[in-house]
Amino acid sequence: MLILPPNFVAQARTFRLRCSCEDCTYFIASSEACAHGYPNAMHRLSAIANAPARAVTDANSGDNVGGLERYAAFCKEFELA
Ligand code: SF4
Repeated sequence: MLILPPNFVAQARTFRLRCSCEDCTYFIASSEACAHGYPNAMHRLSAIANAPARAVTDANSGDNVGGLERYAAFCKEFELA
């Protein structure tokens, strides 16, 4: 999981960042499945673009330290199509 900057989606569009299943060679468009059989819901473009915001917490105590961060999971098997 990576913390996304607030302007991540805009930057991804500007710099044509390819990081989701839709741009991966293992993505089967007809079934929207991964050729490796991986669960891919969290790696889809919509999931990355709409990553939910979570409260920022202290790593040790788990206490809320204020503010919100958005996280997204990028697939380590991604291969640019
Ligand atoms: S390898 Fe990863 S990025 Fe590629 S289609 Fe499968 S889940 Fe998506």
